[in-house]
Amino acid sequence: MVRIVTLVAALGGSLAAAAEPGESQFRALYQELVETNTTLSAGDCTLAAQRMAAHLKNAGFADSELAIFVPPDHPKEGGLVAVYPGRDPKLKAMLLLAHLDVVEAKREDWTRDPFKLVEENGTFYARGAIDDKAEAAIWVDTLARLRSEKFKPRRAIKLALTCGEETSSALNGAKWLTENKRELVDAAFALNEGAWGELDAAGKRVALQIQAGEKTSQDFRLEVTNSGGHSSRPVKNNAIYHLAGALTNISRYEFPVQFNDGNRAYFTAMAKIQAAKGETEIATAMTAFLKNPDDAAALALVAGKDPSWNATLRTTCVATMLDAGHATNALPQRARANVNCRIFPGVNREDVRKQLENLAADSEVKVITLNVRNENPPVPPLTPAIMKPFEKLAAEFFPGVPVVPVLQAGATDGAFFNSLGIPTYGIMPIFIGPDLGHVHGLNEYLSVQSLLEGRAFLYRLIKAYADQK
Ligand SMILES: [Zn+2]
Repeated sequence: MVRIVTLVAALGGSLAAAAEPGESQFRALYQELVETNTTLSAGDCTLAAQRMAAHLKNAGFADSELAIFVPPDHPKEGGLVAVYPGRDPKLKAMLLLAHLDVVEAKREDWTRDPFKLVEENGTFYARGAIDDKAEAAIWVDTLARLRSEKFKPRRAIKLALTCGEETSSALNGAKWLTENKRELVDAAFALNEGAWGELDAAGKRVALQIQAGEKTSQDFRLEVTNSGGHSSRPVKNNAIYHLAGALTNISRYEFPVQFNDGNRAYFTAMAKIQAAKGETEIATAMTAFLKNPDDAAALALVAGKDPSWNATLRTTCVATMLDAGHATNALPQRARANVNCRIFPGVNREDVRKQLENLAADSEVKVITLNVRNENPPVPPLTPAIMKPFEKLAAEFFPGVPVVPVLQAGATDGAFFNSLGIPTYGIMPIFIGPDLGHVHGLNEYLSVQSLLEGRAFLYRLIKAYADQK
């Protein structure tokens, strides 16, 4: 124990984490969860859910407070809902959400076994070490701690651990719950993945994010069909040329800039960070368009500087796949492309499709909406009730590190809950570097210290939120 404290102090970390009780139980729980393979191909989310339920039962949860759910015909894609009762039945619950499933990982590609939790030089390596088993384990551990302390929160705390977040073709457990077991997960607000703490390349803490909404990913197919013919007798009416023309037009187009609470708060915080880094021109431009959203020069400067900033300002659409022709010596009978759009919150999906059709400006090009994952949800409001406790703990744990609201360009299960009117915030105060700890990639990793700090922070945050009126 002495050695650990010394090490943490040497790294300049928060001593609060080292002093946190129950660390060894948490490590064992985290290890058990990480080592339960939950890939779609070979894993079992239902088993992981049962194991997490067993931890809660050990901590004193009654069977009536735990529900393992298994969607019909998907025996290995189950999940867990737990309810920790509150003392004020008039207050709606808060919901802790995390996904159990992980992205596929091949042993032969990894340096270490992806389904063993390996600790080396202060770092944990494993598939799911961050995404999303860090937070899933912290939720379970925190509920177990609260129960053993006999904590009586004002509002009930619900937990939902689900499967099928990482694979678009899989059954999504969060969506399934909202459609089939709404009462189990109904809540005043929810906490989920989708944000993190940012380290720079040198390992210095730069910002602590809170996710305030996300864009909606939507695929569209552009398709041209043609009677084709022999390539020795070309005609002007060529499916590939029609498609290429449409894609070129789309590539030249920028959707209009839009503002909401999420990206306004983001650029307000980012302007300060840029100014502190001496990036005066960028900081001034950000401040300028926050004052005047029609300042085209300032917007162009910021959007052109960083693709993430651009994505935070507007709907984006980009060609991602092409498929055309059937023989090298034949005129193409079919040409199609996939265009992936990230739709700004509140923008109508059909309006985006129509815009692509207008840009194609060619009646031969059909623009078809592909699988719809979720409705485009509203942005959860950054109320003082959410922000104040978060900012207070941020100042205590990570002094001087700014809290930065982000509009997530990626998609999380939070969308299903935001769509239902349950404001869902991405909160995961675990610091990771610019490579995002190789989440979804090879040798996923996170610092042990960051994980333990996140655990200590979230334990306090959950208590604060659960005790609010
Ligand atoms: Zn995830």
